[in-house]
Amino acid sequence: MADSWQRQLRRAARSLDELRARFLPGLEITPEMREAERRFPTAVTEHYASLVERPDFSDPIFRQCVPSGEELVPAPWASRDPLAEEPCSPLPRLVRRYPDRAVLLACDACACRCRHCFRKRVSARGGPAVSDAELAAVARWLRANPRVEDVLVSGGDPLVLPDARVAAILGALRSVPTVRVVRIATRLPATLPARFTRGLVRILAAARRGGGPAVFVSAHFNHPRELAPEAAEACARLVDAGIPVQNQAVLLRGVNDDPATMEALCRALYRIRVRPYYLFQADLAEGIEHLRTPLATGLRIMARLRANLSGPAIPNFCLDPPGHAGKIELAPATVARRVRGTTEVRAGDGTPFRYPDPV
Ligand SMILES: *Cc1c(COP(=O)(O)O)cnc(C)c1O
Repeated sequence: MADSWQRQLRRAARSLDELRARFLPGLEITPEMREAERRFPTAVTEHYASLVERPDFSDPIFRQCVPSGEELVPAPWASRDPLAEEPCSPLPRLVRRYPDRAVLLACDACACRCRHCFRKRVSARGGPAVSDAELAAVARWLRANPRVEDVLVSGGDPLVLPDARVAAILGALRSVPTVRVVRIATRLPATLPARFTRGLVRILAAARRGGGPAVFVSAHFNHPRELAPEAAEACARLVDAGIPVQNQAVLLRGVNDDPATMEALCRALYRIRVRPYYLFQADLAEGIEHLRTPLATGLRIMARLRANLSGPAIPNFCLDPPGHAGKIELAPATVARRVRGTTEVRAGDGTPFRYPDPV
């Protein structure tokens, strides 16, 4: 296995210099980019770098993975923990913001470091993966908190871990009968699709057998170009094995913040049986001012998606605020006002309609 996923992961470029020397010879490195890299390190797989067409920040792939001088622009609201996850952590590796769901931070590492990452506090820490003792503590906590029936396994990217560790995580969750659903959040379909070997898919599919939890995979594709043939093949393997795949995209300036690009992404995902689930407004994370958009941009894009796409191809546009509020869905206003026994609503093109209350 000359080009195994482990080798590809090990051989990811971990600095601007390595990236230029090995994958992107046209890369021009400025002192500001080096400063940005000191604040949040670089990691880019060869596969992801191969999707770059122009080696500059006008390229949507390059823009997501190469440190930019614009990351140095300060913003008064930027936070290292923009979702305030730390105050909602009953255990060091668990985040609970909803009564019935919790997030397990299984590891710190990722194959590629997304410049827009909202969990840089974790991904830049470089700590060890979840241990057996920690998994036992998580299972104990879940047994004591049976209302939590949906566990999101995230990180970092949990699927950079070896098969045996992934199996151990699923085994710990399977040992708690009240855990009914496990969702695995991973960027690897886009950045390291070779990870989705038959062996891994078998482990994920087996978790459900004998009354175990339903397993979903939450992918993270932001641009249609990320849906390379290898990525589509990885998703097909999962779906063919009975593992539903859904996508959580982030709206990013200069990457996917125009209606045509987002429509193309959602259409392409839908065709390969990956359900566009969320489109997230960018969080108030550090170093991403140049990637954020005004809310109005997303609303305009959603109006276009509503008008042009099949229902299952339309994601929920959400803002994830800090604290206990939960995700806030943002939609173009369709309910205009109430007028004496009727509600005035507006179609996507603005056409008004008065829906009467029951007699
Ligand atoms: C987003 C999130 C979830 C899952 O939310 P869904 O809307 O069910 O996808 C669960 N826990 C935390 C802390 C989250 O941020």
